[in-house]
Amino acid sequence: MITGSCLCGAIHYRIDVPLGPVTPCHCTQCRKSTGHFSAATPVKWEDLALEGELSWYDSTPGKARRGFCGTCGSYMIWEEFDGLAYVSAGTMDNPTGLSIDAHIFYADKGDYYRCDDGVPCYAQGRSSEEMAP
Ligand SMILES: [Zn+2]
Ligand SMILES: [Zn+2]
Repeated sequence: MITGSCLCGAIHYRIDVPLGPVTPCHCTQCRKSTGHFSAATPVKWEDLALEGELSWYDSTPGKARRGFCGTCGSYMIWEEFDGLAYVSAGTMDNPTGLSIDAHIFYADKGDYYRCDDGVPCYAQGRSSEEMAP
């Protein structure tokens, strides 16, 4: 079981199914939205017991939106209308038992850091070329 919440606690959730790896996304939208980069793992909406009211920002109208707490601003969920909620790993309570499998949109990352944690860094999506960290 994984539990999580936003910073102020107005939104909290529970997940009782096993989760896959966490994927950090370094695209400009995720950087601006989170203040650094995003790190999320997908779960089916029906497997996410969510309490509280998310606020949504249509970051790619008709294709994807970002759910956050309207009170404290925690970025909690990415949705691209595929039946999945991509839950921000940073909102999860420890221990998660999860780990990162790859970095995506690494070509767009901020110039002030690098991720040399030994997993692939894809320039864009997973089918793109790999980059040196
Ligand atoms: Zn909050
Ligand atoms: Zn992104």
